[in-house]
Amino acid sequence: MALRFYNTLTQQVEQFAPLSDNIVRMYTCGPTVYNYVHIGNLRTFTFQDILRRWLRAHGYRLDHVMNITDIEDKIIRNAAAERKSIGEYTAVYTQAFLEDAATLRLEKPERLVEATRHIDDMVQAIQKLGERGFTYLSEGSVYYRIASFPGYGKLSHNDFSGIRAGARVDLDEYDKADARDFVLWKAKKDGEPAWATSLGEGRPGWHIECSVMAMKYLGETLDIHTGGVDLTFPHHENEIAQSEALTGKPFVRFWLHAEHLSIDTQKMSKSAGNFYTLRDLLGMGYAPEAVRYLLASVPYRKKLNFTFDGLKAAATSIERLRNYKLRLETGKFSPGVNEKLEQTTLAARKAFDEALDDDLNTAEALAAVFEYVRDTNTAMDAQELLSGNAVSALEFLARFDSVFDVLTPSTRGGGLSDAEVDEQIAERNAAKKAKDFARADRIRNELSAQGIVLEDTKEGVRWKRQ
Ligand SMILES: [Zn+2]
Repeated sequence: MALRFYNTLTQQVEQFAPLSDNIVRMYTCGPTVYNYVHIGNLRTFTFQDILRRWLRAHGYRLDHVMNITDIEDKIIRNAAAERKSIGEYTAVYTQAFLEDAATLRLEKPERLVEATRHIDDMVQAIQKLGERGFTYLSEGSVYYRIASFPGYGKLSHNDFSGIRAGARVDLDEYDKADARDFVLWKAKKDGEPAWATSLGEGRPGWHIECSVMAMKYLGETLDIHTGGVDLTFPHHENEIAQSEALTGKPFVRFWLHAEHLSIDTQKMSKSAGNFYTLRDLLGMGYAPEAVRYLLASVPYRKKLNFTFDGLKAAATSIERLRNYKLRLETGKFSPGVNEKLEQTTLAARKAFDEALDDDLNTAEALAAVFEYVRDTNTAMDAQELLSGNAVSALEFLARFDSVFDVLTPSTRGGGLSDAEVDEQIAERNAAKKAKDFARADRIRNELSAQGIVLEDTKEGVRWKRQ
């Protein structure tokens, strides 16, 4: 079976291939840098990371653009409250976002683009929309006339034909019930940052920024556009209206939307006290890999119910996989290949691939991995797994980890290198040999404090990072 995705635009699961050149041209609505991103945002970004990695596993190259929204109502409000310039204020949270993304092992998109560096492009696009009769001016602001775009509503599958012409909305975010002509260019208000342009003094609306930056770097028709499901309306609907009015061509072939994350089945909110950033979870002692695993483990189109039990279970699953890998790497296996087990490996790999090809069904893919781990652990217990099988098992594990990326422990601050750990173990062995058991225990405890666990086996000491 081929790679396929659920397309919000057609409401169908469709076979995917890029339009040209084996390159996937993809756009992601990035963060609005007014605060730290929360784990709901990170769920969406983790989905995009799994998507990137699986597209590459198919041999595609990526040209992936993510915007940084660094001018917006909440930014202006918060920066003013802290008496900072917009640039000073957003630099802090842009950096924090990049750090969080790196901690979660989210690959960096090929291009990260900031809205404030594309004001001229946006002004030109708004002017062109005006020349084509899609806009009007009111009190210094420019609005998009949705009645002039017959396809309005095709992404969110809403019928907006009854909307009263001329009703306007100045906010960037609003409900379906408030579908109105939306603002492209906001006239300057007192105390707000503004750019002096041919449209007058003001600043761009949020929606135009994504249309302009997506098409500037990726061309008029994108292969994939992703975002959280809450962006479907109005943001993505408005992106389509703007972009297709400018080019007369389909803006995006595949729209992929990630579902919400809830906390203990509740909506995450600051007022409910169940609002978490990645930094909060790390501060409680959870490893970034456990967070990544949990966020990736539920298929992106299903609602993810975040619980601390789930996070602990994620950590346990990772631990199991790492122990399994260690056993394969350090075990003594008889030479040769058990053909029956080779078939098991092939079948597991096929099940893994088919699950991810099926609209990134990560839950099924993980099930295939754990079934395989169980079967081959049993085979190792029975001495039926041979050296050739160990090689292919490690290869399968590497394929798994090229997508899920949880097997290598994050290094802690001040962590020991592998060579330093080996040195300590050699000293401990020497101490034991000299019957200085107090010293041997001290070394073990010191290593343990640094997250290094020793295990005495028949073949000598094995160690791992926790
Ligand atoms: Zn966007």
